[in-house]
Amino acid sequence: MTATRRDFLAAAVGATTAALVSPDRLAAYARFSTATSRDEPYALVLGITQDAGMPQVGCYAERCDRARARSAPRFAASLALVQPDAGRYYLVDATPDITRQLDLIDEPGFRERAGQRRPFDGIFLTHAHIGHYAGLAVLGKEGLGMAPTPTYCTARMADYLTNNGPWGLMVSEGRLDLRPVVSGEWNRIDDQLQARALLVPHHPEYSDTVGWMFRGPTQTLLYLPDIDSWERWELSVEEVVESVDVALLDASFYSASEVPGRNIEDIPHPLVPHSMDVLQNRVDAGDRVVFTHVNNTNPALFEDSPEAAEVRRRGFEIATEGLRIPL
Ligand SMILES: [Zn+2]
Ligand SMILES: [Zn+2]
Repeated sequence: MTATRRDFLAAAVGATTAALVSPDRLAAYARFSTATSRDEPYALVLGITQDAGMPQVGCYAERCDRARARSAPRFAASLALVQPDAGRYYLVDATPDITRQLDLIDEPGFRERAGQRRPFDGIFLTHAHIGHYAGLAVLGKEGLGMAPTPTYCTARMADYLTNNGPWGLMVSEGRLDLRPVVSGEWNRIDDQLQARALLVPHHPEYSDTVGWMFRGPTQTLLYLPDIDSWERWELSVEEVVESVDVALLDASFYSASEVPGRNIEDIPHPLVPHSMDVLQNRVDAGDRVVFTHVNNTNPALFEDSPEAAEVRRRGFEIATEGLRIPL
Protein backbone atom coordinates (compact mmCIF):
# COMPACT_ATOMS: atom_id res chain seq x y z
CA MET A 1 0.00 0.00 0.00
CA THR A 2 1.39 3.40 -0.88
CA ALA A 3 1.57 6.07 1.79
CA THR A 4 -0.86 8.21 -0.18
CA ARG A 5 -3.41 5.45 -0.39
CA ARG A 6 -2.99 4.61 3.29
CA ASP A 7 -3.54 8.29 4.18
CA PHE A 8 -6.66 8.39 2.07
CA LEU A 9 -8.01 5.16 3.60
CA ALA A 10 -7.27 6.46 7.08
CA ALA A 11 -9.18 9.64 6.29
CA ALA A 12 -12.11 7.63 4.93
CA VAL A 13 -12.07 5.35 7.97
CA GLY A 14 -11.92 8.37 10.29
CA ALA A 15 -15.12 9.58 8.76
CA THR A 16 -16.83 6.27 9.48
CA THR A 17 -16.38 6.57 13.24
CA ALA A 18 -18.55 9.68 13.37
CA ALA A 19 -20.98 8.69 10.64
CA LEU A 20 -21.11 6.25 7.78
CA VAL A 21 -18.96 7.23 4.81
CA SER A 22 -20.75 9.86 2.73
CA PRO A 23 -21.55 9.04 -0.90
CA ASP A 24 -19.21 11.90 -1.95
CA ARG A 25 -16.32 10.41 -0.03
CA LEU A 26 -17.04 6.92 -1.39
CA ALA A 27 -17.09 8.33 -4.92
CA ALA A 28 -13.80 10.15 -4.28
CA TYR A 29 -12.27 6.93 -2.99
CA ALA A 30 -13.55 4.98 -5.98
CA ARG A 31 -11.92 7.53 -8.29
CA PHE A 32 -8.69 7.33 -6.32
CA SER A 33 -8.53 3.55 -6.24
CA THR A 34 -9.39 3.20 -9.91
CA ALA A 35 -6.80 5.71 -11.12
CA THR A 36 -4.59 4.17 -13.79
CA SER A 37 -2.62 5.82 -16.53
CA ARG A 38 -4.31 5.60 -19.88
CA ASP A 39 -2.35 2.79 -21.47
CA GLU A 40 -1.30 0.81 -18.40
CA PRO A 41 -2.61 -2.80 -18.22
CA TYR A 42 -5.28 -3.26 -15.58
CA ALA A 43 -7.68 -5.77 -14.10
CA LEU A 44 -11.29 -4.61 -14.23
CA VAL A 45 -13.80 -5.97 -11.72
CA LEU A 46 -16.86 -7.10 -13.71
CA GLY A 47 -18.82 -8.43 -10.74
CA ILE A 48 -18.53 -9.16 -7.03
CA THR A 49 -21.41 -11.42 -6.01
CA GLN A 50 -21.63 -15.15 -5.35
CA ASP A 51 -22.52 -17.36 -8.33
CA ALA A 52 -26.27 -16.74 -8.44
CA GLY A 53 -25.98 -12.94 -8.52
CA MET A 54 -27.77 -10.11 -6.76
CA PRO A 55 -30.75 -9.86 -6.71
CA GLN A 56 -31.00 -13.62 -6.52
CA VAL A 57 -33.68 -15.58 -8.38
CA GLY A 58 -36.94 -15.72 -6.45
CA CYS A 59 -35.59 -13.56 -3.62
CA TYR A 60 -37.92 -10.71 -2.72
CA ALA A 61 -36.34 -10.01 0.64
CA GLU A 62 -35.54 -6.38 1.36
CA ARG A 63 -31.87 -6.83 0.46
CA CYS A 64 -32.62 -8.18 -3.02
CA ASP A 65 -35.26 -5.51 -3.63
CA ARG A 66 -32.64 -2.91 -2.68
CA ALA A 67 -30.33 -4.48 -5.24
CA ARG A 68 -33.10 -4.32 -7.88
CA ALA A 69 -33.45 -0.59 -7.18
CA ARG A 70 -29.69 0.15 -7.50
CA SER A 71 -28.74 2.39 -10.39
CA ALA A 72 -25.49 0.44 -10.89
CA PRO A 73 -26.35 -3.27 -11.09
CA ARG A 74 -24.48 -5.96 -9.20
CA PHE A 75 -23.06 -8.90 -11.16
CA ALA A 76 -21.53 -12.29 -10.32
CA ALA A 77 -17.81 -12.34 -9.54
CA SER A 78 -15.59 -12.01 -12.59
CA LEU A 79 -12.68 -9.96 -13.96
CA ALA A 80 -11.46 -8.66 -17.28
CA LEU A 81 -7.72 -8.17 -17.84
CA VAL A 82 -7.19 -5.24 -20.19
CA GLN A 83 -4.05 -4.17 -22.06
CA PRO A 84 -5.14 -0.93 -23.76
CA ASP A 85 -1.85 -0.30 -25.59
CA ALA A 86 -1.70 -3.82 -27.05
CA GLY A 87 -5.46 -4.06 -27.57
CA ARG A 88 -5.59 -7.36 -25.71
CA TYR A 89 -8.45 -8.54 -23.50
CA TYR A 90 -8.83 -11.56 -21.23
CA LEU A 91 -11.84 -12.82 -19.28
CA VAL A 92 -11.50 -14.44 -15.84
CA ASP A 93 -14.55 -16.68 -15.25
CA ALA A 94 -17.69 -16.50 -17.39
CA THR A 95 -20.78 -15.80 -15.28
CA PRO A 96 -24.53 -15.97 -15.99
CA ASP A 97 -24.38 -12.13 -16.03
CA ILE A 98 -21.80 -12.03 -18.85
CA THR A 99 -23.98 -10.20 -21.40
CA ARG A 100 -24.30 -7.00 -19.38
CA GLN A 101 -20.95 -7.38 -17.64
CA LEU A 102 -19.02 -7.02 -20.88
CA ASP A 103 -20.57 -3.53 -21.26
CA LEU A 104 -18.29 -2.50 -18.38
CA ILE A 105 -15.23 -2.97 -20.62
CA ASP A 106 -15.25 0.62 -21.75
CA GLU A 107 -12.61 0.44 -24.48
CA PRO A 108 -13.59 1.10 -28.12
CA GLY A 109 -11.11 -1.57 -29.24
CA PHE A 110 -12.99 -4.19 -27.26
CA ARG A 111 -16.31 -3.45 -28.92
CA GLU A 112 -14.72 -3.64 -32.33
CA ARG A 113 -13.20 -7.03 -31.54
CA ALA A 114 -16.45 -8.31 -30.04
CA GLY A 115 -18.17 -7.32 -33.29
CA GLN A 116 -15.66 -9.52 -35.09
CA ARG A 117 -16.58 -12.44 -32.76
CA ARG A 118 -13.16 -12.50 -31.14
CA PRO A 119 -13.64 -10.53 -27.92
CA PHE A 120 -10.89 -12.23 -25.91
CA ASP A 121 -7.26 -13.24 -26.35
CA GLY A 122 -7.90 -15.80 -23.65
CA ILE A 123 -10.31 -17.00 -20.97
CA PHE A 124 -9.22 -18.16 -17.51
CA LEU A 125 -11.57 -20.44 -15.56
CA THR A 126 -11.48 -21.23 -11.83
CA HIS A 127 -13.97 -24.12 -11.63
CA ALA A 128 -17.26 -25.69 -12.69
CA HIS A 129 -19.78 -24.02 -10.38
CA ILE A 130 -22.39 -22.05 -12.31
CA GLY A 131 -21.16 -18.56 -11.47
CA HIS A 132 -17.78 -19.29 -12.97
CA TYR A 133 -18.37 -20.94 -16.35
CA ALA A 134 -22.10 -21.02 -17.26
CA GLY A 135 -21.66 -17.73 -19.15
CA LEU A 136 -19.60 -19.58 -21.74
CA ALA A 137 -22.91 -20.83 -23.13
CA VAL A 138 -23.79 -17.49 -24.77
CA LEU A 139 -20.37 -17.33 -26.44
CA GLY A 140 -21.30 -20.44 -28.48
CA LYS A 141 -23.13 -20.69 -31.77
CA GLU A 142 -26.53 -19.65 -30.39
CA GLY A 143 -24.92 -16.46 -29.12
CA LEU A 144 -21.74 -14.56 -29.95
CA GLY A 145 -20.31 -17.40 -32.05
CA MET A 146 -16.85 -16.90 -30.60
CA ALA A 147 -13.77 -17.54 -32.75
CA PRO A 148 -11.24 -20.05 -31.33
CA THR A 149 -10.03 -18.67 -28.00
CA PRO A 150 -7.31 -20.06 -25.70
CA THR A 151 -9.07 -21.24 -22.54
CA TYR A 152 -6.87 -21.83 -19.51
CA CYS A 153 -8.04 -24.21 -16.77
CA THR A 154 -6.98 -27.38 -14.96
CA ALA A 155 -6.81 -30.71 -16.80
CA ARG A 156 -9.84 -31.91 -14.83
CA MET A 157 -11.86 -28.85 -15.79
CA ALA A 158 -10.79 -29.32 -19.42
CA ASP A 159 -11.97 -32.97 -19.30
CA TYR A 160 -15.28 -31.89 -17.85
CA LEU A 161 -15.84 -29.26 -20.56
CA THR A 162 -14.83 -31.70 -23.30
CA ASN A 163 -17.07 -34.53 -22.16
CA ASN A 164 -20.28 -32.70 -21.22
CA GLY A 165 -22.74 -30.74 -23.30
CA PRO A 166 -23.17 -27.99 -24.27
CA TRP A 167 -19.52 -27.18 -23.52
CA GLY A 168 -18.27 -30.21 -25.47
CA LEU A 169 -19.75 -28.76 -28.65
CA MET A 170 -17.86 -25.51 -28.07
CA VAL A 171 -14.69 -27.59 -27.66
CA SER A 172 -15.26 -29.74 -30.77
CA GLU A 173 -16.14 -26.65 -32.82
CA GLY A 174 -12.81 -25.21 -31.73
CA ARG A 175 -14.29 -22.19 -29.95
CA LEU A 176 -12.85 -23.22 -26.59
CA ASP A 177 -9.19 -23.93 -27.36
CA LEU A 178 -8.42 -25.68 -24.08
CA ARG A 179 -4.98 -25.08 -22.57
CA PRO A 180 -4.71 -27.20 -19.40
CA VAL A 181 -2.29 -25.77 -16.85
CA VAL A 182 -0.42 -27.33 -13.93
CA SER A 183 -1.08 -25.92 -10.46
CA GLY A 184 1.84 -23.85 -9.18
CA GLU A 185 3.53 -23.26 -12.53
CA TRP A 186 3.80 -19.82 -14.10
CA ASN A 187 2.59 -19.63 -17.70
CA ARG A 188 3.66 -16.85 -20.05
CA ILE A 189 0.44 -15.72 -21.76
CA ASP A 190 1.83 -12.76 -23.77
CA ASP A 191 4.68 -10.26 -23.48
CA GLN A 192 2.85 -8.39 -20.67
CA LEU A 193 1.05 -11.15 -18.78
CA GLN A 194 1.97 -14.29 -16.86
CA ALA A 195 -0.59 -16.48 -15.10
CA ARG A 196 -0.31 -19.17 -12.45
CA ALA A 197 -3.11 -21.40 -11.18
CA LEU A 198 -3.15 -22.59 -7.55
CA LEU A 199 -5.36 -25.53 -6.54
CA VAL A 200 -7.58 -24.76 -3.55
CA PRO A 201 -9.94 -26.97 -1.49
CA HIS A 202 -13.49 -26.35 -2.72
CA HIS A 203 -16.29 -28.94 -3.02
CA PRO A 204 -15.44 -30.69 -6.30
CA GLU A 205 -18.65 -32.00 -7.89
CA TYR A 206 -17.53 -31.60 -11.53
CA SER A 207 -14.05 -30.13 -11.40
CA ASP A 208 -11.27 -29.12 -9.09
CA THR A 209 -10.90 -25.42 -8.23
CA VAL A 210 -8.07 -22.95 -8.63
CA GLY A 211 -7.31 -19.38 -7.74
CA TRP A 212 -5.32 -17.46 -10.36
CA MET A 213 -2.29 -15.23 -9.97
CA PHE A 214 -1.80 -12.69 -12.74
CA ARG A 215 1.51 -10.86 -13.12
CA GLY A 216 1.64 -7.76 -15.30
CA PRO A 217 4.39 -5.19 -15.86
CA THR A 218 3.78 -3.41 -12.54
CA GLN A 219 1.74 -5.60 -10.17
CA THR A 220 0.81 -9.19 -9.31
CA LEU A 221 -2.82 -9.93 -8.51
CA LEU A 222 -4.32 -12.98 -6.78
CA TYR A 223 -7.90 -13.85 -7.74
CA LEU A 224 -9.38 -16.45 -5.38
CA PRO A 225 -13.19 -16.23 -5.38
CA ASP A 226 -14.01 -19.65 -3.87
CA ILE A 227 -12.34 -21.70 -1.13
CA ASP A 228 -13.84 -23.92 1.57
CA SER A 229 -11.36 -22.99 4.29
CA TRP A 230 -8.00 -21.21 4.66
CA GLU A 231 -6.92 -23.88 7.15
CA ARG A 232 -7.55 -26.76 4.74
CA TRP A 233 -5.39 -25.17 2.03
CA GLU A 234 -1.94 -26.71 1.65
CA LEU A 235 -0.52 -23.19 1.20
CA SER A 236 -0.45 -20.46 3.82
CA VAL A 237 -2.85 -17.73 2.74
CA GLU A 238 -0.73 -15.22 4.64
CA GLU A 239 2.35 -16.16 2.61
CA VAL A 240 0.43 -16.16 -0.67
CA VAL A 241 -1.04 -12.71 0.07
CA GLU A 242 2.41 -11.45 1.05
CA SER A 243 3.76 -12.63 -2.32
CA VAL A 244 1.32 -10.50 -4.37
CA ASP A 245 0.47 -6.79 -4.54
CA VAL A 246 -3.31 -7.17 -4.43
CA ALA A 247 -5.44 -10.14 -3.35
CA LEU A 248 -9.10 -10.49 -4.31
CA LEU A 249 -10.54 -13.08 -1.95
CA ASP A 250 -13.70 -15.10 -1.20
CA ALA A 251 -16.10 -13.12 1.01
CA SER A 252 -19.20 -15.29 0.53
CA PHE A 253 -20.55 -15.04 4.07
CA TYR A 254 -20.16 -12.65 6.98
CA SER A 255 -21.78 -14.84 9.65
CA ALA A 256 -22.76 -18.49 9.98
CA SER A 257 -26.40 -17.61 10.67
CA GLU A 258 -27.14 -15.49 7.60
CA VAL A 259 -28.58 -18.19 5.29
CA PRO A 260 -31.97 -19.23 6.67
CA GLY A 261 -32.83 -22.88 6.14
CA ARG A 262 -29.33 -23.80 4.98
CA ASN A 263 -26.66 -25.37 7.13
CA ILE A 264 -23.38 -23.45 6.79
CA GLU A 265 -21.56 -26.83 6.65
CA ASP A 266 -23.30 -27.45 3.30
CA ILE A 267 -21.87 -24.24 1.87
CA PRO A 268 -18.47 -23.91 3.51
CA HIS A 269 -16.51 -20.69 3.05
CA PRO A 270 -14.28 -18.71 5.41
CA LEU A 271 -16.38 -16.08 7.17
CA VAL A 272 -15.27 -12.49 6.50
CA PRO A 273 -14.35 -11.63 10.13
CA HIS A 274 -12.23 -14.82 10.29
CA SER A 275 -10.48 -13.95 7.03
CA MET A 276 -9.72 -10.50 8.44
CA ASP A 277 -8.30 -12.07 11.63
CA VAL A 278 -6.08 -14.37 9.55
CA LEU A 279 -4.84 -11.55 7.31
CA GLN A 280 -4.87 -8.52 9.64
CA ASN A 281 -1.06 -8.63 10.01
CA ARG A 282 -0.64 -8.62 6.24
CA VAL A 283 -2.98 -5.65 5.81
CA ASP A 284 -1.30 -3.79 8.68
CA ALA A 285 2.01 -4.43 6.90
CA GLY A 286 0.65 -2.69 3.80
CA ASP A 287 -0.74 -5.55 1.68
CA ARG A 288 -3.95 -4.82 -0.19
CA VAL A 289 -6.78 -7.33 0.42
CA VAL A 290 -10.03 -6.79 -1.50
CA PHE A 291 -13.09 -8.96 -0.86
CA THR A 292 -15.27 -10.33 -3.64
CA HIS A 293 -17.71 -13.22 -4.34
CA VAL A 294 -20.16 -11.84 -1.76
CA ASN A 295 -23.39 -13.81 -1.20
CA ASN A 296 -26.70 -11.96 -1.39
CA THR A 297 -27.18 -12.59 2.36
CA ASN A 298 -23.86 -10.93 3.30
CA PRO A 299 -24.64 -7.42 4.63
CA ALA A 300 -21.16 -6.21 3.64
CA LEU A 301 -22.50 -6.15 0.07
CA PHE A 302 -24.12 -2.81 0.98
CA GLU A 303 -21.61 0.04 1.29
CA ASP A 304 -23.65 1.71 4.05
CA SER A 305 -23.87 -1.37 6.33
CA PRO A 306 -22.02 -1.58 9.69
CA GLU A 307 -20.31 -4.73 8.36
CA ALA A 308 -18.90 -2.90 5.33
CA ALA A 309 -17.77 -0.09 7.65
CA GLU A 310 -16.01 -2.65 9.85
CA VAL A 311 -14.21 -4.11 6.81
CA ARG A 312 -12.97 -0.64 5.85
CA ARG A 313 -12.06 0.22 9.46
CA ARG A 314 -9.73 -2.79 9.54
CA GLY A 315 -8.01 -1.66 6.33
CA PHE A 316 -9.63 -4.23 4.02
CA GLU A 317 -11.67 -3.37 0.93
CA ILE A 318 -14.78 -4.67 -0.77
CA ALA A 319 -14.57 -4.75 -4.55
CA THR A 320 -17.17 -3.08 -6.71
CA GLU A 321 -18.13 -3.32 -10.36
CA GLY A 322 -15.85 -1.08 -12.41
CA LEU A 323 -12.93 -1.10 -9.94
CA ARG A 324 -9.63 -0.98 -11.84
CA ILE A 325 -6.47 -2.51 -10.42
CA PRO A 326 -3.22 -1.74 -12.26
CA LEU A 327 -1.41 -4.86 -13.44
ZN1 LIG B 1 -18.59 -19.30 -6.71
ZN1 LIG C 1 -17.72 -22.69 -6.26
